[in-house]
Amino acid sequence: MPELPEVEITARRLDAALRGAEIESALAPGINALKTFDPPLQAIEGRAIAGVRRRGKHLVVDVAGDLSLLVHLMSAGRLQLFDKRATLRDRTSRLLVRIAGGGRELRLREFGTKQRAWVKVLRTEDIEADEAIAALGPEAWPEPPGDLAELLAAQGARPLNAVLRDQHVIAGIGRSWVDEILWSAMLSPFKRADDLSDEEADALREAIVNTLDGAIEHYERVVELPIPDKLPMPLQVHRHQGEPCPRCGATLEAVHYEDYVMSYCPVEQTGGRVLKDRRLSRLLK
Ligand SMILES: [Zn+2]
Repeated sequence: MPELPEVEITARRLDAALRGAEIESALAPGINALKTFDPPLQAIEGRAIAGVRRRGKHLVVDVAGDLSLLVHLMSAGRLQLFDKRATLRDRTSRLLVRIAGGGRELRLREFGTKQRAWVKVLRTEDIEADEAIAALGPEAWPEPPGDLAELLAAQGARPLNAVLRDQHVIAGIGRSWVDEILWSAMLSPFKRADDLSDEEADALREAIVNTLDGAIEHYERVVELPIPDKLPMPLQVHRHQGEPCPRCGATLEAVHYEDYVMSYCPVEQTGGRVLKDRRLSRLLK
């Protein structure tokens, strides 16, 4: 599940390796992955890569001459640079960008059965107006928005866990890091977004900065090219239910949803209450 820290380290590593490199050819074996046809993908051929950057959970590969690839990895995609070209039998390939001289290849791969990762070829000046980017809220990092408390309050009764993952409200946080952030701020995942005191809002802001900073610093130390299929995420709480809380020692609990899990410390976040495990309660009905 690539979220802001994972996409950020991917952008940094690819930028350092590819800036200035010339694109020899590009093709999209994943028929559903390429979401645009004008300009055509081939328009990037013969041009130099001007840089790789992050926007929310998206990657942007800027190409000299005002073109850009806008890439969304969704839940199972990876943008990886390899020294050798993929065999065309590699079913994980969605987009192949071959680099001139030396055989390197920038590859969008996707694991699992679903094809959700996507790429758009856009004019660089149109990136911010693209519907996926224009709909994003302010970036969560490096500096959460100054009016974070107001942004959250406008979400009314929605729980913090949902609001912080809503890319329209604040961009970059997903299911893994939201658990770490709320644990760090000692806030309940079910607390209403419009029910934060000034102190709680400050603690939340600090937790967002520190948690995402910490993750990116960790990746800076341990992640090298080629970016591994599975990044070594330094999670302390998410998916650690049943283990002791690293801060207070209480047993971490979790609420299981259909396709994800929300983990928390019942002593420090929910006032001692163990929230209903929806998977269990459904089985017991
Ligand atoms: Zn605890």
